[in-house]
Amino acid sequence: RHTPEKTASARLESNVRSYCRSLPARFARARGATLEAADGTRYIDFLAGCSTLNYGHNDPDLKAALLDYIEKDGLAHGLDFYSDAKEAFLEEFERTILEPRKLDYRLQFPGPTGANAVEAALKLARKITGRHNVIAFTNGFHGVTVGALAATGNGTHRGAAGVQLGGVTRLPYDGYLGADVDTAAILERMLADPSGGVDAPAAIIVETVQGEGGLNVASAAWLRRIEALARENGALFIIDDIQAGCGRTGSFFSFEQAGVSPDIVTLAKSLSGMGLPFAVTLMKRDLDQWAPGEHNGTFRGNCHAFVTARAALEKFWRDDRLQKDVARKGEILRERLEAMAKKHPGQTFTKGRGMMRGIDVGTGETADAIVAECFANGLVIETSGGHGQIMKVLAPLTIADDELARGLDILEQAMDAV
Ligand code: PLP
Repeated sequence: RHTPEKTASARLESNVRSYCRSLPARFARARGATLEAADGTRYIDFLAGCSTLNYGHNDPDLKAALLDYIEKDGLAHGLDFYSDAKEAFLEEFERTILEPRKLDYRLQFPGPTGANAVEAALKLARKITGRHNVIAFTNGFHGVTVGALAATGNGTHRGAAGVQLGGVTRLPYDGYLGADVDTAAILERMLADPSGGVDAPAAIIVETVQGEGGLNVASAAWLRRIEALARENGALFIIDDIQAGCGRTGSFFSFEQAGVSPDIVTLAKSLSGMGLPFAVTLMKRDLDQWAPGEHNGTFRGNCHAFVTARAALEKFWRDDRLQKDVARKGEILRERLEAMAKKHPGQTFTKGRGMMRGIDVGTGETADAIVAECFANGLVIETSGGHGQIMKVLAPLTIADDELARGLDILEQAMDAV
């Protein structure tokens, strides 16, 4: 293990790391669901780059596609240039994702990060509707740039913005007020009532499963009602699928299972398949109303990401094998986590869907102690929720069954020990 005081990282890196999680290892290599430190220690990865590595680290086919492209001096980056790499990605996306689902979206490459995709979505909705207000939900996380941050619930992120974060009305997410309270009815009432305090919305933005905000799951019925309310009120319905998409909850888009048809969808994280920064904003064809140059950033359309994203779609999404595998492993996860929760009655309960699941251990302090204990025993795992009180399992979707079981054993032992 490295000694932090002697590293360049300790001398030069901002203290910011100490406010996040500084795991006591120097990571060097990674393959599949295994991380390897410079000293050779191996760790099972239940973080997967916060769902940027749904297909595991350095998948051999994705790696080969990228190396081959670079070897042949393929164009690395060309802003909006029409290129071989972009054409091949778009063709694959159309054939593998859009056509089978009968979806008619156009794609914008707004920049490298998820927040870029959210900013584009919100700005487009405001431009099209001529309205400013956006409805977002408690515990939602949409990124830390100013527009996306305004829609993000977490006060720690919002507090340091230094600017007013206006133009968003945040309302209770499904289940926020307990299982008995119908939060869609609250939204409906507030929108219908001129004294309800909700200005006419340009958009309603929602995650189907709240990745950072505690693995809260919106029911299909609730999502359908929110979609209907958006339509009835002239607002665009945006699904932020940055963390829950790309297969994490079972289907490529998390909203497929709810039968909704969002006007705008944001994707990033695992879209490139290899952890390359790459985001996309999908919009229904009639919403493609940008004027040239109205919204773009330099790193839109990175060709290396096009290459690996195409290879990932071809390898994992041309048939339904991965989808079935995620459903199966999701059930293993659910059963194991529920058994762990039963051993620790009281505040402990499970949350999530598909391979995006967690176990609420009551407090952030307990969760931090479990993270440390897991790490000492060879498992990298992170927390979620407003108080960091939820152990979040985000293993690569491709993790082998025995590795998944071993990781869960380590988590279970850590929960018993703490
Ligand atoms: N939206 C969701 C649902 C996310 O989980 C995240 C990141 O965790 C973002 C947006 C922001 O993405 P990025 O950190 O790439 O800007």
